[in-house]
Amino acid sequence: MNLILMGAPGAGKGTQSAKISEKWNIPAVSTGDMLRAAVREGTPLGVAAKSCMDEGKLVPDEIVIGIIKDYLSSDKCTNGFILDGFPRSIPQAEALDAMGVKIDAALSIEVADEKIVERMSGRRICSGCGASYHVKYNPPKVQDVCDTCSASLYTRDDDAAETVLNRLETFHKTTEPLKDYYAAKNLLICVEGREKVEDTTAAVMSALAKFEA
Ligand code: ADP
Ligand code: ZN
Repeated sequence: MNLILMGAPGAGKGTQSAKISEKWNIPAVSTGDMLRAAVREGTPLGVAAKSCMDEGKLVPDEIVIGIIKDYLSSDKCTNGFILDGFPRSIPQAEALDAMGVKIDAALSIEVADEKIVERMSGRRICSGCGASYHVKYNPPKVQDVCDTCSASLYTRDDDAAETVLNRLETFHKTTEPLKDYYAAKNLLICVEGREKVEDTTAAVMSALAKFEA
């Protein structure tokens, strides 16, 4: 299964992509995670990306298209993949089509704007494995410590309230038109993002059941 995950920032794409990856045994790739890693390592790409990310804007299409092209041509992806956070604009979707990759579905996790801000302010990320937690909706067993790898949790720079509003605006303006793009290809599946992670996961899995071998 070659799957695209869409949804507003904080809709829970990363969390659900990890669940799908585990169940289907296919790799999940997050352009956000890759960019954050580049920022941490201080690579030229990271330096270029950081200011866009901190402002809640998209990183230029050429940069992310390059990253994804490299990834999809690696042999990790032969049995399928999940794209979390790509494509995020019509030109990115067109670039993906031009790579000749077949997409089976574009799954959109729908969450109302009002809920997004609250979700982001409580979000915590593992500094070791990148897993995503929420202080209220998906707390780790021990405060500020990752359940899986025991590394410490941190708050993303771009989860600051002002940046969240910019990211939402970017989402509505540039990313949301992708729903029509994939609906026109009959690939769009919408799932309501629920308050409890397990409820969203259940809805996602039942929406994807038809792709099971
Ligand atoms: P979220 O979905 O919660 O906003 P991500 O981790 O997916 O978080 O992305 C964080 C930031 O990384 C985005 O706000 C954007 O600046 C950058 N980014 C991630 N993916 C892309 C992409 N496909 N195109 C352009 N910028 C991207
Ligand atoms: Zn971890």
